[in-house]
Amino acid sequence: MLSFWEKESFVEYDFVIIGGGIVGLSTAIELKTREPQANIVVVERGVFPSGASTKNAGFACFGSLTEVLSDLEKLSEQEVFDLVKRRWDGLQLLRNRLGDNTIDYQNYGGYELLQTDDQLTSLEKLDKVNALLMPLFDSEVYRSVPEKTEALGFSTDRVKGLVFNQFEAQIHTGKMMKALQRCTLSMGVDLLTGTGVEGLDEDQAGVGVRLANGILLKAGNVAICTNAFTTKLTHTDLKPGRGVVLVTQPISGLKLKGTFHYDEGYYYFRNYQDRIIFGGGRNMDLEGETTTDFGVPDKILSKLKNDLDHLILPGQPYEVEQVWSGIMAFGETKQPILKRQSERVFMGVRLGGMGVAIGSLLGKELAELITESVNN
Ligand SMILES: Cc1cc2nc3c(=O)[nH]c(=O)nc-3n(C[C@H](O)[C@H](O)[C@H](O)COP(=O)(O)OP(=O)(O)OC[C@H]3O[C@@H](n4cnc5c(N)ncnc54)[C@H](O)[C@@H]3O)c2cc1C
Repeated sequence: MLSFWEKESFVEYDFVIIGGGIVGLSTAIELKTREPQANIVVVERGVFPSGASTKNAGFACFGSLTEVLSDLEKLSEQEVFDLVKRRWDGLQLLRNRLGDNTIDYQNYGGYELLQTDDQLTSLEKLDKVNALLMPLFDSEVYRSVPEKTEALGFSTDRVKGLVFNQFEAQIHTGKMMKALQRCTLSMGVDLLTGTGVEGLDEDQAGVGVRLANGILLKAGNVAICTNAFTTKLTHTDLKPGRGVVLVTQPISGLKLKGTFHYDEGYYYFRNYQDRIIFGGGRNMDLEGETTTDFGVPDKILSKLKNDLDHLILPGQPYEVEQVWSGIMAFGETKQPILKRQSERVFMGVRLGGMGVAIGSLLGKELAELITESVNN
């Protein structure tokens, strides 16, 4: 039973944002900037964000050479340029908002490992992709650097080509999310954690937001930012995709520095100080990994360890310290879903595997969509 005071101060909001990941928090910040007088709350079912934003590998990336080439097979040059630009713009927004020191932004560059003859043919199109992206970066993005293979400690039997991207960087995911939370709270947005939204009841007066603990919030408008978990709340076109990540203990004499990808981005690793953070393997069982269950399948973990042994750290002793998983959301296209779902319910979901890059921008666009719709 709620008190008079609780009803006065805690249950009525102009905007309820569901989901406290990078998109939910960015949406809250942007909405509060546009509507400083608005009463806004973010509802996060976890004690802290519990989807992808606190579980990822912390790549500040916008696409490897083979990913861009694969996109060019399905999309026009202009569409691919726009896709890369959105990721790049999103990263700049995140950096400007929180500061490079705060999020531990380190621009060591990124590398793509080419392992098959087919992958090596991508080098023939490197100049074409650089020319396409020149207006955005004002410089070449991708460069073939086979001479670095040995210096980085890779197996030369397996790595046949190496492409360097000078603009790729890494961040500390935990610091980024904590700073986003602090930024949100400092602006006067409320944050309710530890209880999820079970359902929405919309009528002409507003939206009833039913919480799992039985409390009913009243909202003028609602923003759904629940990414892979959205279908539990409302119909939408997305599929979850689980991603497994491991971190090693510190490795003495570690040669790797930067972010690294292979197999069209299905595998990714980076240094964090003198550790390796390594994730991927979803393509081993795409159907089985289409799940919102957090878990770590043995066969994926074995594959990651095998690649550490024979490809990434051949001959170097290491210990895996910890393993975890997070849940992403995918669809037919790489574009997120940004839309007005009904009169008072909006959504920004389906971030794919580069949500660190586009999350801030999607939050901005969602806040724009909401304020423009509400004020017209
Ligand atoms: C293993 C892994 C590695 C990744 N690596 C990278 C990377 O290196 N670089 C990169 O750019 N991207 C990476 N990504 C992708 C990126 O993390 C995501 O695209 C991004 O975090 C999505 O943000 P979001 O806010 O949309 O979703 P989420 O972070 O999933 O946030 C949604 C939130 O909604 C909450 N929620 C769900 N249902 C409810 C409910 N009913 N009520 C209340 N709250 C609810 C969840 O608990 C969650 O906190 C990775 C993802 C994973 C899983």
